[in-house]
Amino acid sequence: MSGRVYLVGAGPGNPGLLTARALELIAAADVILYDRLIPDAALDGARADAELLFVGKEGGGASVPQEQTEALMLARAQAGQTVVRLKGGDPFVFGRGGEEALTLRAAGIPFEVVPGVTAGVAASAYAGIPVTHRGLASAVALVTGHAREDAVEAIGGEEGAIDWPALACFPGTLVLYMGVRQLPQITAALIAAGRPRSQPAAVVEAGTLPAQRTVTATLETIAAVAATEGVRPPAITIVGPVASLAPELAWLAPGPLTGLSVAVTRARAQASGLARRLQELGARVIQAPVIRVEELPGPALDPSPYDLICLASPNAVAGLFERLDDGTHPRGDTRSLAHAKIAAIGPGTARALVARGVIADVVPERFVAESLVQALAELPVRRALVARAGEARDVLPDALRARGAEVDVLALYETVAEPLSPRALQALRATDYVTFTSSSTVRFFVQAAGGEPALAQSTRIVSIGPITSQTLREHGLEPDIEAATYDVEGMIAALLADAAARASNGR
Ligand code: SAH
Repeated sequence: MSGRVYLVGAGPGNPGLLTARALELIAAADVILYDRLIPDAALDGARADAELLFVGKEGGGASVPQEQTEALMLARAQAGQTVVRLKGGDPFVFGRGGEEALTLRAAGIPFEVVPGVTAGVAASAYAGIPVTHRGLASAVALVTGHAREDAVEAIGGEEGAIDWPALACFPGTLVLYMGVRQLPQITAALIAAGRPRSQPAAVVEAGTLPAQRTVTATLETIAAVAATEGVRPPAITIVGPVASLAPELAWLAPGPLTGLSVAVTRARAQASGLARRLQELGARVIQAPVIRVEELPGPALDPSPYDLICLASPNAVAGLFERLDDGTHPRGDTRSLAHAKIAAIGPGTARALVARGVIADVVPERFVAESLVQALAELPVRRALVARAGEARDVLPDALRARGAEVDVLALYETVAEPLSPRALQALRATDYVTFTSSSTVRFFVQAAGGEPALAQSTRIVSIGPITSQTLREHGLEPDIEAATYDVEGMIAALLADAAARASNGR
C-alpha cells in the first residue's frame, strides 16, 4: 500500500510559527522533502532515522527541477513511506503545492494539506502592518511579482501574465511576493495604470526572522529606497494605505545579537535549547550539526549495588533511565535510585535529572570531570557507576579507582558523524560566530569540512571550556572566546560580552 503524502506549510521562517500539526507530522515522517525558505529549526523534531532531502534552490544556484522533486515524492510514497513535503509559508500560496497535489491525485496517492502561516500576512504583521484595517482596506490581494517562480524576465515579457492595470484598480491592499528586483518595473506599471504615486508602500525583508527589516516609502519611491537600503530576498512588498501604520505599530524590538549569525554544531537533538536562546537574543542561527547521538543497546541495569552513580551528560541521564530495573520497582522507576548518591557533571545534566524527579547530591562548580573528582573527594565510595558516552575520558573512573572504589563504566550512547549539508557549509563560510560545545563537535566538524577551511577569517570561534579549546587548538583552530562557566549559559554570556564589545568598537 502506498504511503501518504503531507503537503505541509512551515510558516514564514520563525520556528514558533510552525503549526502543531506540522510539528506532529515532521516528527512522524519517514522522508521529508524540504525547501529553502523553511525555518532552520523545523527539522529538529524529525526522527533520527528519517531521510531529509533538500529539494530547493541553493542560494542563487540551480534548483532541483520540479519534476524530479515530484518523482521523488511519488517514489517514496509508492514504497509505502510517510512523506512530508515541507514548504515555506503556506503550500498553496505560490508554493506549487497545487501542482504537487494534482500529481498525487493523478497517481492515486492519498494526501493531506497542512496550511501554513503565509509570508505575506506574517511578515506584514511582524512589521506592524495589518493587511486589512477598518477604514483603510477591506480587501487584500496576494500577488506574485514573478509571473512564474522561475521566470526572471517576468514583467512585461512573455511571462508577463499579470494584469497590472487591473491590480492598480484593486480596492484594497496589494501584497507582492517575490520580485524585489522587479520593483522598479512593478511600481511603474501600477502608477502608469492609475494607482496613486503617493500611496504608502513598505518592503519587509526576512519577515519574522531575527534579521527582519522594514523600509517604508511611497509607491513612487519604494523601489529606489529598497535598492538604496540593499533589500534582498526573501521580502514582500505591501502597497496600500495600511502601510502607513508600520512606523506606529512596529513592535519587534531588536535583541543584543540582532544582525549577527551564530552557527551551532552540536547534535540537532541537543541544539534546540541553545538555538532558541540565541534566536531570542536576535541572532540568526545556522544549524550545522556535525554529530548525532545514537543510543547503544544493552541489558537492564540494577542500580542497587552502587553507592555512587555519576552521570556525565543529559544523554547519559536519558540512557540510564531507559535501563533502570532493580527487580522490585517498575522499569525506569526513580525509587530504584533512592539508596545511592547521585552526581551530575554539570547543571545541564542536573536539570535532566530534575526533569525525572531526581535532585543530584553533587554538582561541581566547574563542569569538567576533574572538578567532579574534586567535588566527590569527601564522599565515601565503595562501588560507583559512571554512566556516560562510549568514548570519553577516563579521568573520573580512574580517580575513583585510585581512591579504592570499585568502578563500573556504563556506555549508554555514542556520538557519530553527521555530514554537513551543502547548505550548512555555505552558511558556515559567512557566519559571524561558530559554537563548539564539546571536543567531539570539534573533531567531527573538522572531519565534515573534509580538509577544506570551512570558516572565514573573520568568523569568531566560541568554545564552551578549556577541554574543547584544547581540542580546537590541536586541530589548528584558535578559539576567540571561551566560556567562563563551562556550559551553554556560560557560552552565551561570553558571546554576548564579545558582541557588545564589537558593537562599541563599531564592529
Ligand atoms: N508559500 C510561501 C511563498 C513562497 S514564494 C508562503 O506562503 O509564504 C517565496 C516568496 O515568499 C519570497 O520571494 C518572498 O516574497 C516571500 N517570503 C517567504 N518568506 C518570507 C519572509 N520570511 N519574509 C518576507 N517574505 C517572505
